[in-house]
Amino acid sequence: MPVLPPDEHVRVLISEERIRERIAELALEIRAQVGSEPVTCIGVLKGSFIFMADLVRALGGPVRCEFLGVSSYHGGTRSTGVVRITQDLRHPIEGQHCLLIEDIVDTGLTLDYLKHFLGGHRPASLRTVTLLDKPDHREVEVDADHVGFTIPDEFVVGYGLDLGELYRNLPFIGVYSP
Ligand code: 5GP
Repeated sequence: MPVLPPDEHVRVLISEERIRERIAELALEIRAQVGSEPVTCIGVLKGSFIFMADLVRALGGPVRCEFLGVSSYHGGTRSTGVVRITQDLRHPIEGQHCLLIEDIVDTGLTLDYLKHFLGGHRPASLRTVTLLDKPDHREVEVDADHVGFTIPDEFVVGYGLDLGELYRNLPFIGVYSP
């Protein structure tokens, strides 16, 4: 049954089914890199919480879950350019194989900042995955190791991504236009 957008401001860009298929592929890609080693998955709150929940189940094998709180947007649709840690890691990650899980890479400022931040915690290895990539708007040269979907420079909501804390619960990715 098709899922209808909740209002006239959101149109479906990536369906629930397409997300599910792509996550299964990403999990295989990532496991092929890390083998059967335990992986410490570090989700960036809040946007990655739904992606992370699906990805860790698809990954299988030994997995630890950690979270980092980060704020770079303040309720609008444009970045302030300032990345701030609002919730630090709860456990040491030194010597562990880590996977940073992002919802979306836009300017690249957040990913770049977090790669340096986590690198300072001396993990055995650090890979990065983002569900969405908006390469048209980069301000720093940084890319995730694994990308779910490359999308145009539009503001998207759903599947964890918000606008003013709303829309995170949409099961698909939609483009928001006022
Ligand atoms: P960056 O630092 O790469 O510019 O942006 C990273 C963060 O900005 C993401 O984790 C996300 O919270 C937010 N962001 C960037 N583009 C979008 C978008 O299209 N929609 C939403 N909801 N958030 C976005």
